Amino acid sequence: MATATTAIEPSVKISANKLLINGRWINSASGKTFPTVNPATGEVITQVAEADAADVDKAVTAARAAFETGAWRRKMTASQRGAMLNRLADLIEKHADELAQLESLDNGKPYQIAKAADLPLTVACYRYYAGWADKNHGKTIPVNGNYFCYTKHEPVGVVGQIIPWNFPLLMQAWKLGPALSMGCTVVMKPAEQTPLSALRVGELIMEAGFPEGVVNILPGYGPTAGAALARHMDVDKVAFTGSTEVGKLIMKAAAETNLKRVTLELGGKSPNIVFADADMDEAIEGAHFALFFNQGQCCCAGSRLFVEEKAYDEFVERSVARAKKRTVGNPFDAKTEQGPQVDQDQFDKVMGYIDKGKKENAKMLTGGGRVGDKGYFIEPTVFGDVTDNMTIAQEEIFGPVMSILKFKTIEEVAARANKTTYGLAAAVWTKDISKAHAIADSVRAGTVWVNCYDVFDAGAPFGGFKQSGIGRELGEYSLANYTEVKTVTVKL
Ligand code: ADP
Repeated sequence: MATATTAIEPSVKISANKLLINGRWINSASGKTFPTVNPATGEVITQVAEADAADVDKAVTAARAAFETGAWRRKMTASQRGAMLNRLADLIEKHADELAQLESLDNGKPYQIAKAADLPLTVACYRYYAGWADKNHGKTIPVNGNYFCYTKHEPVGVVGQIIPWNFPLLMQAWKLGPALSMGCTVVMKPAEQTPLSALRVGELIMEAGFPEGVVNILPGYGPTAGAALARHMDVDKVAFTGSTEVGKLIMKAAAETNLKRVTLELGGKSPNIVFADADMDEAIEGAHFALFFNQGQCCCAGSRLFVEEKAYDEFVERSVARAKKRTVGNPFDAKTEQGPQVDQDQFDKVMGYIDKGKKENAKMLTGGGRVGDKGYFIEPTVFGDVTDNMTIAQEEIFGPVMSILKFKTIEEVAARANKTTYGLAAAVWTKDISKAHAIADSVRAGTVWVNCYDVFDAGAPFGGFKQSGIGRELGEYSLANYTEVKTVTVKL
């Protein structure tokens, strides 16, 4: 564990722990609450109101009313909506330190990283979509005959948004930004592991002056509150980020109810390909970051690390040395690179995969154990000699477990990279521009990074091929998720 000398004591006060419905903070209809836990200690931070179907119904009614009265999409101009989103961005920026503390407390991610990465990206995302509010316009179309034909981009309506726990603030921004910008009203369910920062942003949304009912936030569990949202007959669209397994349930729920529109951002098993001609210092550090960033809890983690045979031994040796140096411990210590996994379930799941790796004869080169005796800390773990059919090379681990595979030729690695049901991201490390483009061209994934990893920008779309999802978030592309195109034809 890192020493305590560079640690700070979190000073954040928890002010929001209820449901936000129609501009008011209320208890759940059942009166039930659930605990949210600090993963660094295993201790309860606070109790949070627990929404279920009755609360979802109330929130959808409020969102529907806010949509129908036009309080958000008509009475307010598109530019005014943009200004409101900018006001929210300003408030988040003003409270960045407090929000970074909350994020770290509830999720376990290092506070310094939350402050340096999650918060600025969150603010940038709201600002980016503030800019789009008055710019997503339709077209005029030269149809046959004496007609004037034009399209309008209208908000899709009431949207349900279900988000995960790995980047709570950022996932909230990726979803709220485009939805609100386009004039939709929202019922959002944060993940049960990490409701606190989303609720605090709810307070800032009210402070910014958003009309009541435009944003409703319901902490609660997936099979109850989440499922009720996905099944609700008056929700026009559901946007989900999480596991592929639950993504399928969401799609089924939408199909069985009102055919609400569905966008999904799901799991991955992303190939990260290192050629022998790469800048080895950069590739080793980049591959380390690609896998271990955020405790390995990234849907786009570079979790199948393919290394060219000629460079394999050096790469493995140096990657193991780097993993051994990784500092694990108190998320509020400035020296900490890696905090705990988010909860006991995730801890158990990751430890289960480590066991599987050993049983299937992958070579464990470092790590494999727990760190400390409280909280959910796991040693940075590296497996070498991993082969394509091993469980750890096929299933998403979502933890600090690196799997290194060997390859000989570009044709071989291009084919093996695509042997997965997922298609979220990929990366290639090489100084040869032809190899870089060949991989970028052949890999079936929504994002390809060349000589870099996890470079995100509000303007650059993100999402999956194959079972990694449906639709794209971020950038101009995500506007289509929250709009319906209306064609108007007028006889002249
Ligand atoms: P993870 O395995 O990473 O926790 P999940 O897919 O289980 O990911 O969870 C992501 C989000 O989906 C969370 O907000 C969770 O509460 C929600 N969720 C889980 N199960 C369901 C479900 N059956 N219906 C709707 N939402 C769900």
